[in-house]
Amino acid sequence: MRPMKPKFARVRNPARSSVFPGGSEILRNPQLNKGTAFTDMERDALGIRGLVPPRVHTIEEQCRRSLENFARKPDDLERYIYMTALQDRNETLFYKLVADNLEEMLPIIYTPTVGQACMEYGHILRRSRGLFISARDRGRIAEVLANWPHSNIRIVVVTDGERILGLGDLGANGMGIPVGKASLYTACGGLDPSACLPVTLDVGTENEILLEDELYLGIRRHRVRGDAYLELFEEFVDAIREIFPHAVLQCEDFATENAFGLLERYRDRLCLFNDDIQGTAAVVLAGLYSAVRITGGAFKDQRILFLGAGEAGIGAGELIASALLDEELSEDAARERCWFVDSKGLIVRSRSNLPERKRRFAHDYREISDFPTAVAALKPTAIIGASGQPGMFSQSVLETMAEINARPIIFALSNPTSKSECTAEEAYRHTGGTAVFASGSPFEPVRIGENTYVTGQGNNVYVFPGVGLGAVTASARHITDSMFLAAARAVASQVSDAELETGQIFPSLPRIHEVSLSVAVATAEIAYRDGLTAEERPDDLERQIRESMYRPEYRAYA
Ligand code: NAD
Repeated sequence: MRPMKPKFARVRNPARSSVFPGGSEILRNPQLNKGTAFTDMERDALGIRGLVPPRVHTIEEQCRRSLENFARKPDDLERYIYMTALQDRNETLFYKLVADNLEEMLPIIYTPTVGQACMEYGHILRRSRGLFISARDRGRIAEVLANWPHSNIRIVVVTDGERILGLGDLGANGMGIPVGKASLYTACGGLDPSACLPVTLDVGTENEILLEDELYLGIRRHRVRGDAYLELFEEFVDAIREIFPHAVLQCEDFATENAFGLLERYRDRLCLFNDDIQGTAAVVLAGLYSAVRITGGAFKDQRILFLGAGEAGIGAGELIASALLDEELSEDAARERCWFVDSKGLIVRSRSNLPERKRRFAHDYREISDFPTAVAALKPTAIIGASGQPGMFSQSVLETMAEINARPIIFALSNPTSKSECTAEEAYRHTGGTAVFASGSPFEPVRIGENTYVTGQGNNVYVFPGVGLGAVTASARHITDSMFLAAARAVASQVSDAELETGQIFPSLPRIHEVSLSVAVATAEIAYRDGLTAEERPDDLERQIRESMYRPEYRAYA
């Protein structure tokens, strides 16, 4: 006689508060699946005995197996594909693996590998992730959003794929960016994975290679522009407010005009921020605060020359100016600390047709067409590359910086690695090892002679997960520049003297949870202080945030 099948234990899913079915469906659901970690009792209760191998493994043992498989992959893109598949199979294990191996995993699930993944998205796709809203969905965007299987969305990361990292217009392939950022929200900021929604607005692409690629995933048309684009975005925003009214909206990798335009249009209407402008700004400012602790001198005496006057550069300039206003400098004096070179040369008053955001940093000076001449003339204490142009911090630029400064500050922020204005090795070699260096994508430590130099990565991951978490905690109505200023200070305060001694100007990645917590507290404090929320500040704010943070641990089913 066949033994009787044990009665299926109907278990509540805390994420959705609904009763879910059992058996093999649980194994196929990445939020519920534990693979070989289901205990004997669970296997009987759920009716999955025999559907997984008999040996029960701990999550630590599963991580070891996953790491072995990860290491066996021949290149980083294959590792990205492996990690994506793991996320699709067993979300808890994915986050445990990422959380325990951040330094190894972040360059795979985010920059630089995510850049390559985006370029080849149509060719490497296994299973769709995130929500695609295309120009064809005009008039029914709310309906599309309502198809998303989770209802309690608190973070929406959205791109239209027009300026993916420094790689340009990748259309719908840009989905890798919001998907990666949503994962970082959980891995580094402790947001529940089911509360984060990656969205790609597919409005077409100007990328002819993609348009001709039969495996391209997006709609095959040139970009929707002008009023039609703005109307589509407006409908998207309205639909978000209707379907996910408690969500923070984070804009990612929009091209410069749309990035600034949409931020201005919506920042006072909903809880929205642009990570490329505001998140980057806070990371740059945090890096400068730490760098000045190494170079000596006062922050207000720095002279900063940016290469690139786009989202990252201008955003950083504005936040640096705000920080200097706080140090009692006049607005003019604060802005005079920041200089910009864009593709047409030094930004000076005599230049015509400057958009207002650049004009605010146009100083009285002669016109200079190239960066090396600007460096020699202005004698900056810091140069910050956000141009997407590799090699622009040439040997002669770096040597000049070392002649002007005992400890020159060199940030080469362009992503991915192939776009960096200089490599870490070049920065140290051509400054005689004196550079205080940070990059956008990670570089291995550099060994020159007897010395080893540990590089810093000006990774936005130090800021946006904490800002999002803080805004969600406080139910903030808006995200303000004051929050990013507070976030920058919180990040800088987390850098220890020991880290500074090795040349590191950002906290070590394994401490990212603590960093995100302190950024979240700082962000929420501003929301309470500035009346940006209807809620009362809880007495135990930090504890409340800490306890709310997601941990990659299996739940018990029986
Ligand atoms: P953007 O397109 O808004 O701006 C690029 C700017 O570079 C423009 O002002 C353009 O005029 C200028 N530029 C182009 N060619 C130039 C040249 N030859 N000389 C001088 N200036 C030139 O892009 P963005 O959002 O500001 O991003 C720029 C780069 O910074 C990207 O590679 C991006 O990946 C990187 N970035 C890094 C971080 C980080 O490290 N945390 C954050 C955001 C952006």
